Amino acid sequence: MAYEVVIGLEVHTELSSKSKIFCSCTTLFGGEANSHICEGCTGFPGALPVLNEAVLERAIKTGLATNCEINLQNRFDRKHYFYPDSPTAYQTTQFYQPICLNGYLEVEDEEGQTKKIRIKEIHMEEDAGKLSHDPFTDTSLVDYNRAGVALLEIVSEPDFRSAAEVVSYLEKLRSILQYADISDCKMQEGSLRADINLSIRPKGSQELGVRTEMKNLNSFRAIARAIESETQRQIDALRDGEEIIQETRRWDDDKGESFSMRTKEDALDYRYFPDPDLPPLTISEDMIEKVRKTLPEMPEEKKKRYIEELGLPEYDTGIITDSVHLVRVFEETAKVCADPKEAANWIMGELLMLLKDSQTLPENIDFDPSYLGKIINMLKEGKINRGTAKKVFAEVFAKNMEPEAYIKENNLELLTDNTAIKAAVEKVVAENEKSVNEYKSGKKKAFQFLMGQSMKALRGQAPAQEVSKLLKELLD
Ligand SMILES: [Zn+2]
Repeated sequence: MAYEVVIGLEVHTELSSKSKIFCSCTTLFGGEANSHICEGCTGFPGALPVLNEAVLERAIKTGLATNCEINLQNRFDRKHYFYPDSPTAYQTTQFYQPICLNGYLEVEDEEGQTKKIRIKEIHMEEDAGKLSHDPFTDTSLVDYNRAGVALLEIVSEPDFRSAAEVVSYLEKLRSILQYADISDCKMQEGSLRADINLSIRPKGSQELGVRTEMKNLNSFRAIARAIESETQRQIDALRDGEEIIQETRRWDDDKGESFSMRTKEDALDYRYFPDPDLPPLTISEDMIEKVRKTLPEMPEEKKKRYIEELGLPEYDTGIITDSVHLVRVFEETAKVCADPKEAANWIMGELLMLLKDSQTLPENIDFDPSYLGKIINMLKEGKINRGTAKKVFAEVFAKNMEPEAYIKENNLELLTDNTAIKAAVEKVVAENEKSVNEYKSGKKKAFQFLMGQSMKALRGQAPAQEVSKLLKELLD
């Protein structure tokens, strides 16, 4: 029997607001344990929460960018957990009335066809603290710095039929969140993570099979591998006549396997109820319109504009718009050098290579992109050659060096003074009598040698064409 996989996603993203969702503590990543906390986010009795407006705006922005309806009447609820990483023993979330409903994103399926993935809802909630267990001293330590950092949970319908569709959706969602400054989406810092609900059913069936859940996956590669592995595990189990148990499984990316964590029997009753400390939220049409105006140009629109207005090939636009950080470098570089295609070439060639070699993510690029524009200008004006341009760009990339000053200091400019070039070539001719005679007796290869010696004497800083011309004049 042929089976098909049915997948739904719950994506958690940490918002880039400067302060936490219900207090004014900083959301900066890292810092000494328990240094970013107050009475509010550590749940002291009597400390009252106040919703951060920057969080609300980002939630509305996300809804608008993912084709959702904004729920004009929404509110917060308490979800109860007894874990030491939650000082209040409940999470403030939105259960009954989430802020966004009924959206969708278009993704590419495995055949490259466009497919709609429905978004059931998006709700605002708070993150928990972090526990670390020390097996040597048999103690557990808790750090509340992340407690109360705002999260959005984006819940899809079970519309995915392959790992490729899931990754395409996540890439799209990540660009939207980054473009609109909703989240930095640093997966290694946990600011974008996904729970995967997965079941199997005979192909053609409309009924859903029993699903398992894998939680907190934080790399696209791990997500794709976890989906492939869990799909195969369930198909094998069904073929062997086993029953799939509804359970939460933990994916171990090193082992390439998932393990059962807890089954439905001990599923928790969260005892949701409306938060009595936070008033219901009423959102006006005015506010929605105000937020809509702050939405920036999104990846698809940018692609279209780059093709139509800048004349870039579609292939280039796909690579550049994939990351808001590459877009930033591209737009500034193209502005300074007024040559979008050359700017795109440098980004797709040299920049991507430098990123790969230094294992740097585009989000950690920290050179001034106008410097790349300046390098391109100097190259086009014939002040430096391509080899030097690449070398200088590597310095700019690593140390954010101002290129013009660097080129001057290191004497890298091409010689434009013909007398100096001529003097160097004459010296080479005088010092290499043997080769000169060989050339004159018809050995053309000797010319290449003399040319090489001349370029060496000029430290590669003279236009090769000019050197060749002068050398010929001297020899013939
Ligand atoms: Zn706080």
